[in-house]
Amino acid sequence: RSSDVVLRTKDLYKQYKQRVVVDKLNLDIRRGEIYGFLGPNGAGKTTTIRMILGLITPTSGGVEILGQDARENRSKVLPRVGALIETPALYRYMSARDNLQVFAKALGGVPARRIDEILELVGLADRQKDKVKTYSLGMRQRLGIAIALLNDPALLILDEPTNGLDPAGIVEMRDFLHRLASEGKTILMSSHLLSEVQQICSHVAIISFGKLITETAVEKLTRGHGEFIVKIDPM
Ligand code: ATP
Repeated sequence: RSSDVVLRTKDLYKQYKQRVVVDKLNLDIRRGEIYGFLGPNGAGKTTTIRMILGLITPTSGGVEILGQDARENRSKVLPRVGALIETPALYRYMSARDNLQVFAKALGGVPARRIDEILELVGLADRQKDKVKTYSLGMRQRLGIAIALLNDPALLILDEPTNGLDPAGIVEMRDFLHRLASEGKTILMSSHLLSEVQQICSHVAIISFGKLITETAVEKLTRGHGEFIVKIDPM
C-alpha cells in the first residue's frame, strides 16, 4: 500500500561528467522495514543516501519522504529523518549521557526521560556514565544512532553501520535495529556484505553500477539471485 511508504526514490539519477553513478533508482521503503541497500564498493550507495538526505542534488529524479517531496518540503521532512552517515563525531572525554545532552541542547532540549529511553533502546543504559573513549566501536556506533534518534525520527538512514564491527558487534547491532523496527521506526542501511544484510534486514535492494538489480524480501533471496550474490559476497 502506497500509504505505508516512508521513503520513495523516483528515477533518482546522478551523473558526474560523463559518468552515471546512480541510474534511475526507484525504491519504496515501507514503515517498519529494515531495508538493506546492498552493493559492492563504488556501486553508488553513499551517493544515493546523500541525495536522499539532500546533501547533494540529483541530476534528475526525486525523493519522497512520508509522501512529501523532500526538496520542496525540506524543512518539514528533514526533522523526520535521523542519519548516521559516517563515524559519529563524539566527545571522547564525556559520558554517553553527556554527549546526548550536548546534542539535545542543540535541538532546543529533550526531556531527561526521553534520554533515558534512548540509552535503554541503544543498550547503553548501564554504561551511560562512562567516558566514550572506553567504548567499543559498536557502542560508539550505537551512541551515534542514539544522537540521530533524539528528535524521534520516523526514518533512520545508516550508511554501513556494521563497518568494522566484529561478529558479536553485528549481532548487537541486529538486535538493536530489530528493537527499533518493532517500535515502528523504518530503517535504511547500506552494506556491501550479503551475509550482514541476511542477518539484519527484512528487505533488500541490490545495486550494481548505480542500477537496481533486484528488490525483495530477504527470506526470498537465497536461490534466484545466487549468481549475482556470489559477485558481491564471495564468502
Ligand atoms: P562505498 O561503499 O565505497 O562508499 P558506494 O556504493 O557508496 O561505495 P559511492 O560512494 O556512491 O559508492 O560512489 C559511486 C561512484 O561514484 C564511485 O565510483 C565514485 O568514485 C563516484 N563518485 C562519487 N562521488 C563523486 C564525485 N563527487 N565526483 C565524481 N565521481 C564521484
